[in-house]
Amino acid sequence: MLVVMQANATEQDIERVVKAIEAKGFEARISKGEIKIVISAIGSKLTDKRDFELLPGVTEVIQLTTNYKLTTRVFKSEDTIVEINGVKFGGKYAGMIAGPCAVESYEQVDKTVQALANTGVKIIRGGAFKPRTSPYAFQGIGEEGLKILRSVADKYGMAVATEIIDPTQIDMFMKYVDIFQVGARNMQNFNLLRELGTLHKPVILKRGLSSTYEEWLMSAEYIMAGGNGQIILCERGIRTFETYTRNTLDLAAIPVVKKLSHLPVIVDPSHGTGLRDKVEPMSRAAIAAGCDGLIIEVHYNPDCALCDGAQSLYPEQYDALYKEIKQIAPIVGKEIL
Ligand code: PEP
Ligand code: MN
Repeated sequence: MLVVMQANATEQDIERVVKAIEAKGFEARISKGEIKIVISAIGSKLTDKRDFELLPGVTEVIQLTTNYKLTTRVFKSEDTIVEINGVKFGGKYAGMIAGPCAVESYEQVDKTVQALANTGVKIIRGGAFKPRTSPYAFQGIGEEGLKILRSVADKYGMAVATEIIDPTQIDMFMKYVDIFQVGARNMQNFNLLRELGTLHKPVILKRGLSSTYEEWLMSAEYIMAGGNGQIILCERGIRTFETYTRNTLDLAAIPVVKKLSHLPVIVDPSHGTGLRDKVEPMSRAAIAAGCDGLIIEVHYNPDCALCDGAQSLYPEQYDALYKEIKQIAPIVGKEIL
């Protein structure tokens, strides 16, 4: 951290800053220039730069290190590749995950997955526990839904990704699930993140509704700090002033976060736009921007879906989308498995 002071700061002001730096466990080194005085705080501790910004004579405080340590490229320069059921996310690979928003019945999951199996999908999604904005909206069918996902996935040789909403569910989920999904609303459920960090199963960490890149990476840090490095970050749109689409899909997150971190970044154009006809163009754009995979809502009959039907693709639309992005991927040096 660098504490920048006015050149005319008094000796008393400088002394006060030095004392404050030392009190936080850093070593202070002063360099006096004609225009500014810079005091370097040397050490690896975390600190709140506001503590120094308010001291007399200080004009600016520059933080040189990030608050995330394990998820940054500084810690690990090569891409992390997460592999599930032969599907790879990261490096030169982009993986696909598809399935309904919510598990409704055995028949619904079976019909949807059967259609997807013909399109080479090897990982299915579907929420058994749905964290809904309204307590009166469909909340999912619970453990029964996990059983359905497992049995249909086994029938077609697929892996299961599904959302966990509370750390107390971990033992139950371990019986049925291959990938834990942390939803946007739970991105900062730190108890959940800590528990997932102790497991040896991959985690899809969705970006919070209004979270910055740094907050998102800090959440990933909670999981990594516990020893679980199998994390897939998922951009799913953020809250902005625009209301035409359900969220604003922030595709800049792909190059930015992939530069900051070695973790794979996938994109969810279904929640990112909320509109079925926008899913295909945004999938093309996400792949072209170098994302490491897509997670897409597909329903065998979206017109009758209990949740998010308007943003769910018909199976034939998914098929067409998949064929397109398979052609785009090699242009940016990616292979879709
Ligand atoms: C979901 O994927 O079903 C979901 C609820 O997404 P999000 O957490 O991104 O809203
Ligand atoms: Mn949904």
